[in-house]
This record gives sequence, C-alpha cells and structure tokens, in this order.
Amino acid sequence: MRTLDSNTSLRIAIQKSGRLTDKTITLLEGIGLKFDDYKRSLLVKCRNFDVELLLIRDDDIPEYVQDGVCDLGFVGANTVAEDEADVTILRGLDYGVCRLSLAAPKNGGIKKVEDFSGKKIATSYPVLTRKFFEERGISDTTIVTLSGSVEIAPRLEIADAITDLVSTGGTLKANGLVEIAKIFDSETQLIQTNKPLSDGKKQLINKMLQRIEGHKTAAESRYIMMNAPETSVPEIKKIIPSMKSPTVMPLADNGMVAVHTVIPIDTFWDVMEQLKEAGASDIVMLPIESMIV
Ligand code: ATP
Ligand code: ZN
Repeated sequence: MRTLDSNTSLRIAIQKSGRLTDKTITLLEGIGLKFDDYKRSLLVKCRNFDVELLLIRDDDIPEYVQDGVCDLGFVGANTVAEDEADVTILRGLDYGVCRLSLAAPKNGGIKKVEDFSGKKIATSYPVLTRKFFEERGISDTTIVTLSGSVEIAPRLEIADAITDLVSTGGTLKANGLVEIAKIFDSETQLIQTNKPLSDGKKQLINKMLQRIEGHKTAAESRYIMMNAPETSVPEIKKIIPSMKSPTVMPLADNGMVAVHTVIPIDTFWDVMEQLKEAGASDIVMLPIESMIV
C-alpha cells in the first residue's frame, strides 16, 4: 500500500475501456487536465497537474477508492451501490445515465412485481436486486448471479426473468423482454476515498470540483447578444433571467444599443420570443466553453 503523503500524485480511477471512458476523459480535459496517450497505458500521468489516472475495470473502481489505492474515482452509481463501498460520493455527473430494471419475457406470466414471487432472476446486481424484493416483502425469489450477457438467460432457461441496465430499452426489446419495474436510477458519480488525504490533495480535489461546477454551468448556459432600441432596455432587463445585470453598449445608430448577457439554455426559446416582442433584433446565441460564477 502506498503512503498517502503530499509527495504522491492525486490518483484517479477511471474505466479502462467502456461506456464511461471517453466521457470521463472529455470531462477531465474540459476542466483543463492534459493527458498523453491514455489508451495505451494503465497508469497515465497528467501533463499539467499532479494527477495520475489508473485505468481499470469499472467493477474494481469502488474498492480501489475504498482501500485508498486511488483517491478519486469516476464510476456508475449502480456500481457504487452494488459494491456497498465505504466511499464518499462527491457529486453526480450527467453522463452514463441509465436505470437498473426488472425485465421478463414479453409473452410470459410475469407482468408486475408480485409475479416475481417464487421466480428465478438472473442479474449482475444481486445486492440491489435482493434489496428491492426485501423492501417489498417478497422473500422467495432465487437470484442467479451472472457477470454478463444477462439478457439471454430467459431464452437459455437459466432464469425466468432478469435485471439489467437500460438506457433506451433497445437491448431488452431485441431479446424479447419487457421492462416490468425500475430498481435503481443511475448516473456517473465522482467518489472520494475515506482514507486520510494530504492538504495538497484536498486542495487539488476542491479545485477540480469547482472547475467541474463551472464546466456544467457553462454547458447549461448560452451567451446571447442582441440589438435593441435604448427605450426597450428596461423591458429587456425584466425578460432576461440574467445572472448579473446585462452589458449594454451604445451602437453607431442613434438610440440603438447592443445587449450582451448569459442565460440558462432551457429558457432560450421563451426568452428569445419575448425579446423580439420587446423590440430586440439580430439575436445571436453562442456556446460558452467554461465559466466561474
Ligand atoms: P468493464 O469491462 O469495465 O467491466 P462493463 O461491460 O461492466 O465494463 P459498460 O457496459 O462499459 O461496463 O458500462 C459501464 C457503465 O456505464 C455501467 O456500469 C453504467 O453505469 C453505465 N451505463 C449507461 N448506460 C448503460 C446501458 N445502457 N447499459 C449498461 N451500462 C450503462
Ligand atoms: Zn463492469
């Protein structure tokens, strides 16, 4: 076991190869961390921060973080919950979104949760599955733990039904299965070890968290610019749910101004229509790379 002193780099566990890999790297690069060739090595040093990435199977991440082999990990909430790992969840991240669901053959006798009583269920998530049935007072299901390809278990007559991770439901459908109930909602989580960390590492983690927050706010915001008669400015100020007061600049045309501000993306269309009605024209929207509020 390595010593957790300030001379060691902040070690972050990420999935080596799978659904979370590229999105996690994109997020880390998006907050300013630079890596060389992360696909070719298991331990990758960051070029501009005292950080290194350990690339491993996602199933191993909670335990590596729990044991302090890694200080942080990016992994699905489903994996963290199934492992019941002793780690701190720092925050959820909006990728790797899926749900763990119970599914059964389309034309079989299982239509609702109570129908699972006495049935055999194949799953890679025995802990979450058992918990789900226990909470509903169903204690006579048999859980068959498989490490993969769970969706073919009913056809092979290994089990009557399954639990599996679902995002669109396409895989279930292709295997003649229907979703009966949701067991668990999942997204990627940033987890931290509960082992002691040096002050240097704590500072670095705080910095990363702030940058992730800024990155998320930027992704959910747009910079908008418009031209308007100066007399419309009070009305425009009322319409824009601006974070701070908008920038108002005079234009060469007498009585006209340019208004610049930042708005949440989900308000864009409503705001734009109202701005037009208030007299604004030439409304332009731009993406924002990053922002610190
Ligand atoms: P590994 O080789 O690392 O064990 P894996 O096959 O277990 O890989 P992936 O299929 O790459 O893992 O899934 C990784 C994570 O992506 C899941 O644990 C889950 O959090 C998330 N995920 C998002 N959508 C889905 C989906 N539709 N099916 C499976 N996982 C999904
Ligand atoms: Zn896995």
